Amino acid sequence: MALEYLADGIFRPDILATVAGQTHLVGSRCEACGDIRFPPAPACPECHADVERLERVPLSRQGEVVAATRVERAIPPFVPPYLLAYVQLPEGPRVLCQLLADSSEPSHAIGRRCELTVDVLYEKDGAAVRGYKFQVEP
Ligand SMILES: [Zn+2]
Repeated sequence: MALEYLADGIFRPDILATVAGQTHLVGSRCEACGDIRFPPAPACPECHADVERLERVPLSRQGEVVAATRVERAIPPFVPPYLLAYVQLPEGPRVLCQLLADSSEPSHAIGRRCELTVDVLYEKDGAAVRGYKFQVEP
């Protein structure tokens, strides 16, 4: 299966990195004030330091689901139903992402630990377009 990895203008290709064999989301950390953002910011929204003072940092693979909903009608090319969630990372950013869980009931996911994974987001011209999701831990 061909992979059109995080392409198509929906996701940026520079937001994932492999560290010690594992995939991580990449955020930005401000050298001046320490603020960490995901996705990486073009300038620091806290102290207004410009992009030269922002370093790219890998973020934790684990987080906690703080909000979730089930999407029944989606904007193409996404195919419903799926769970959409905010995942709180220990570094500070909250990540909006699709969520994989053992239940389609979003309230069952809230408050649970989850881990980053890379999975098919949708298909385009017969090719799988992959991106990040979080998987609720059992
Ligand atoms: Zn800053």
